[in-house]
Amino acid sequence: MDNSGLVRLPAHAVRALIEGCFVAAGLPEADAARCAELMSEADLTGADGHGVFRLPQYVRRLKAGGFNKHPDIRVTRSGPATALVDGDNGMGHLVMTRATNEAIAIARENGVAWVGVRHSNHAGPAGLYAEMPTAHGMIGFYAAVANANHMATWGGADLLLGTNPLAIGVPSGAGPLVFDMATSIVAYGTVKKYALRGLAMPEGWFVDAKTGAPITDPGRSHEGLLLPMGEYKGSGLALMIGLLGGVLNGAAFGRDVVDFNADDNSETNTGHFMIAVDIARFLPLTTFKAEVDRHVRDLRQSKLLPGVEEIRLPGDRRAECRDERLRDGVPIAPALLAQLDKLATELKVKPLQAR
Ligand code: NDP
Repeated sequence: MDNSGLVRLPAHAVRALIEGCFVAAGLPEADAARCAELMSEADLTGADGHGVFRLPQYVRRLKAGGFNKHPDIRVTRSGPATALVDGDNGMGHLVMTRATNEAIAIARENGVAWVGVRHSNHAGPAGLYAEMPTAHGMIGFYAAVANANHMATWGGADLLLGTNPLAIGVPSGAGPLVFDMATSIVAYGTVKKYALRGLAMPEGWFVDAKTGAPITDPGRSHEGLLLPMGEYKGSGLALMIGLLGGVLNGAAFGRDVVDFNADDNSETNTGHFMIAVDIARFLPLTTFKAEVDRHVRDLRQSKLLPGVEEIRLPGDRRAECRDERLRDGVPIAPALLAQLDKLATELKVKPLQAR
C-alpha cells in the first residue's frame, strides 16, 4: 500500500484480470484482449475512472445482455472521406478500434476522414482514440456522447447533457501531444473515484438541482447537477458534441441517453466521431513535428507566474504517469480491490493479488 492508502498492483496483472473476467463473462478471447489492452492503457495513463475501475460495471452489463458479445460491426463508406460505423451494440472499445482504423485508412487514401459511429457503447477515455492516428503521421480528433446526463444546459436544472468528452492528438518529435477533456468541470468518473476513496468533493463541482447550493458529498451526486467547464462555454461544447456525435449519426442525445450507471440491459446507442487528418497533405511530417517542438519549447520556457514551479502541457502527466505506473504499479483503492476480488470469485478467475 502506498502513502495515499492505495494498493499498487503490476499493470500486467491488472490487464490479465480484466481479460480473464471478460472471457469468463462470455467475450471472445481476441475481443477480451483488446478491451483489456485499452482499459489497461487508461489505467497506465491516469484515466482512473476508465480502466479496471469500470470492470464490475462492464461485466454486469455483459451478463445482463446490455452488450452484444458477438457484434457484427459494420462500416459503410458513404463518400471518399466519410464513413458510418454501426457497432451493433458491441463493447465501445471494439467499435472505436474499428472506427479509428477506418479513419486512418480513409485519411491515408484521401487526406482526411470523418467517421461517425452509432450503436456503440462507453469506450473509456477520449485520449485513447485521439492518440492512435498520431502513430501514422496524422492528427486525431475524437469526441463522444457520454453515457449518462450529469449536466444541465447553462442556467437549466434538467439533466439533458452529458459530460461529452473531446480529445485531440498531435504528433511531435517528443511523442504525441494529447489533450483530453470532459466538457464538465471534472469527469463523472472522478466523482465516483472520490466516492470510492471516501473523499469530499471541492465546492464548484456539483450543485443541488433544486436550490443551486454546492454539494460536496459524492454520495449525494445523484441529487445534483455537475457543472460544465468554463460555465456556458462547456455546456455549449457539450451540446455541439451531442449534435455531431449523436444526432448526426442517428445515435442517442439529450432525453434519449440511457444512464448506463443505472441500467444494465437497455441498448445505449452511443454515438462517437473520429476525424483523422494526414499531416503530409499540408506540410512534410518532419517539418510539422519540428515546428510543434519549437512551439512547445517556447511554451515550456515561459516566464512563470508566482507560485508556479514549471509549465505543464496537456499530455505531460499522461506520459509521466505511464512511466511511473509501469514501474511502480497501478494504484487501486482498497474498496475497488474488494469489488474486484468479489468479481473474480464470482467468475472463477484468479484474483488480482494471486497473479
Ligand atoms: P482533466 O481535467 O484532468 O484534464 C483535461 C486535459 O487538461 C488533459 O489533457 C490534461 O493533461 C490537461 N491538464 C490538466 N491539468 C493541466 C494543467 N495544470 N496544465 C496544463 N494542462 C493540464 O480531465 P477531465 O476530468 O476533463 O477528463 C478525465 C477523463 O475522463 C478524460 O480522459 C475523458 O476523456 C474522460 N471522459 C470520458 C467520458 C466518456 O463518456 N467516455 C465522459 C467524460 C470524460 P494530462 O492528460 O497530461 O493530465
